[in-house]
Amino acid sequence: MRQRLAILGSTGSIGVSTLDVVARHPDRYEVFGLSAQRRVDLLLAQCRQFRPRIAVVATEAGAAELRRGLKDAGLATEVLVGPEALCQMAAAPEVDAVMAAIVGAAGLPACMAAARAGKRLLLANKEALVVGGGLFMRAVAEGGATLLPIDSEHSAIFQCLPEDRRTWAQRIDHIVLTASGGPFRQREHASLHDVTPEQAVAHPNWVMGRKISVDSATMMNKALEVIEARWLFDLEPERIRVVIHPQSIIHSMVVCRDASVLAQLGTPDMKVPIAYGLAFPERIESGAASLDFLQLAALTFEAPERSRCPGLFLAWDALRAGAGTTAVLNAANEEAVAAFLAGTIAFTAIHKVNAHTLEALPPGLGADHTLEDLLDLDRRARALAGRLIKELSA
Ligand code: NAD
Ligand code: MG
Repeated sequence: MRQRLAILGSTGSIGVSTLDVVARHPDRYEVFGLSAQRRVDLLLAQCRQFRPRIAVVATEAGAAELRRGLKDAGLATEVLVGPEALCQMAAAPEVDAVMAAIVGAAGLPACMAAARAGKRLLLANKEALVVGGGLFMRAVAEGGATLLPIDSEHSAIFQCLPEDRRTWAQRIDHIVLTASGGPFRQREHASLHDVTPEQAVAHPNWVMGRKISVDSATMMNKALEVIEARWLFDLEPERIRVVIHPQSIIHSMVVCRDASVLAQLGTPDMKVPIAYGLAFPERIESGAASLDFLQLAALTFEAPERSRCPGLFLAWDALRAGAGTTAVLNAANEEAVAAFLAGTIAFTAIHKVNAHTLEALPPGLGADHTLEDLLDLDRRARALAGRLIKELSA
């Protein structure tokens, strides 16, 4: 039996890499559903190649354009519109596995739908877990879903651990997430006032979507990953450490109780964690080049400094504060990054927006909060961040 896949955000960097791996294994995978926010042209090309049953787009205009293209190509793919349709596709009874590759909190409802429906859930969409936190993890447990990390660091940790997660707490002393340090690794944060979006998205080792590329430049990406690790591996914040490793060859490490260190290495190519998520617990060809040790000059490590990446340190603050605080941080950051990419605020203003929003909006959520509570908090944090952005852009 082939695994039937729904790919949320199939036109993005992770979505395209997922389809690349899937295309290498037509005997194992079949595409049930695809989705895109804007790139209807690329979505149509994907429909021609993979012939999904369903395609979801954001607008009626996009749907009309896609339907015309599908008709010309003689394809019977059904076109659905909007966030509700994404949830339906993620929970559809025909679907075995969901690749969550939407960027931002916008992906949370569909991830929750997949979790509640007990799917095999391949999670690239880290913001969904940063916002959803304990609620997300309860939905995974109650729905009987299998949560497989796709973020390269978390896949690395997952690959270093035994399949039986009940043994994890006993084995792990702490984990070390590696960070490339991004394009501004050697610069003081205060000197980055004038950097442009193009400079910020030019990552030295990875080719990724624009939002995560800016997050890598501010190191907010690593902050989000610390929070993501807290939930994926059920670790107290002090058991999660970060080290800068500019070559991005070691993708992360587990330090065991006996001081033995387990690491996962490879070329920086997202097809590796994607293939692992797709085939787990088996291994399949990913299409990535294998590591040539003799070409590696050196593997080096540096401590992250507050003066260079102040955003990173917000992760532990937010994790120690009340439920919902990480959702506030994520919302502020999404708004600030969008404003920076639009040319409205300076690069250094991103951290100001994040830190001020965190300080000004204690979430006040109870332990029994719902998805609606989190989405409401997300909206309030965005409104507050929006006001800060206005002030900072003046
Ligand atoms: P991207 O911008 O390249 O693609 C995002 C996808 O989501 C696109 O298909 C887009 O159409 C869709 N989308 C965007 N906004 C949407 C919305 N509001 N509703 C529905 N769909 C929407 O992003 P990416 O780089 O592929 O990253 C996707 C996720 O994976 C992010 O959470 C990112 O942090 C994570 N991730 C990416 C990489 C990478 O190498 N690109 C690595 C690790 C983790
Ligand atoms: Mg990562």
